[in-house]
Amino acid sequence: MERISILGSTGSIGVQTLDIVRRNPERFGITSLVAHSRWQELAAQAREFGVERVVIGDHKHYAALKEALADTRIEVAAGSEAILDVVRDTHCDTVVNSLVGYSGLHPTYAAIEAKKRIALANKETLVVGGDVIMTAAKSRGVDIVPIDSEHSAIMQCLEGEKRENVRNLIITCSGGALRDMSHEELEGVTAERALQHPQWTMGAKITIDSATLVNKGFEVIEARWLFDIEPSKIKVVIHPQSIVHSMVEFTDGSVKAQLGTADMRTPISYALLYPDRAKEPTENFSILDYPTLTFAAPDRVKYPALNIAYECLERGGTAACVMNGSNEVAVAAFLKGKCGYLDIVGAIRYALDNATFVAKPTLEDYTASNTEARQLAERFLRL
Ligand code: MG
Repeated sequence: MERISILGSTGSIGVQTLDIVRRNPERFGITSLVAHSRWQELAAQAREFGVERVVIGDHKHYAALKEALADTRIEVAAGSEAILDVVRDTHCDTVVNSLVGYSGLHPTYAAIEAKKRIALANKETLVVGGDVIMTAAKSRGVDIVPIDSEHSAIMQCLEGEKRENVRNLIITCSGGALRDMSHEELEGVTAERALQHPQWTMGAKITIDSATLVNKGFEVIEARWLFDIEPSKIKVVIHPQSIVHSMVEFTDGSVKAQLGTADMRTPISYALLYPDRAKEPTENFSILDYPTLTFAAPDRVKYPALNIAYECLERGGTAACVMNGSNEVAVAAFLKGKCGYLDIVGAIRYALDNATFVAKPTLEDYTASNTEARQLAERFLRL
């Protein structure tokens, strides 16, 4: 039996990962669960899956969680050091990292050091520190398997192929919740409106990132590191139906695509069961339900975040870390109604233009760069 620990178990990916585990009780067991603040849900999950340990990220819920599990033998802890202990636990084989944002970086690094298999939903790990992370993973022989649907699609298309025969990776993009709005309409858009994603049900931060296309920019950066490919060979196409999850174009002109319904349980189960597959689909798929699949080039003026992501890859060093840190602050402010939608990219631009640049960063440099990026975004947004 494979023993799994989930970082971010009460979020969208965490809940769906537990659903896969529930469907495959003979293959998977849960060692530890980590959540940021939803302690009631965490306690219920811990009881259902009979875990050894739970960690709540936010200290202020520790007492309530401890009390809720007082009649069990489940160990209860709190804080970021305790999360690293979960990752290093010898009772766990695979770490599913579905933490949100920068907070996922250090746990991923600790999982590499502890030589765990990593199923990675926290793309910010690779956005911030892709170079350092992939170099460390390679030197320790650690597998990082993507949970992101686009990267899962690319991984499936690359199975059995030689890397030298890859011409382009083509990442598909739904266009997000605001794809049909004009630039003028975007100015006044509310968080409530931006949270209405047409295809995918996801957490708040990634849904806003999808609307701005910051998420797609991050996925370009993620693909660059995950598949060790030059940025110029990574293309983005708008595909509003979200049925083709991504494609790979080869040197002979052949293109492979992976298709299916927009259900994250497919890439999650692929990551957990690879090279095997789940025996029953989460949902049956009929191509006849989708007689029209359309593709279009993204509007680079309406979506400046995409160009910024390529710019960060070109600059290298701490640039993408600054993009990520400033975006986190701006998205949180937007969700609270403290800034406008267009201010998100404004804050990213301001932070990138003013942040200290480190060309060959270490893990500690990322910490400093993330802090500075957050401060710059706060200054720009007058928070
Ligand atoms: Mg994705």
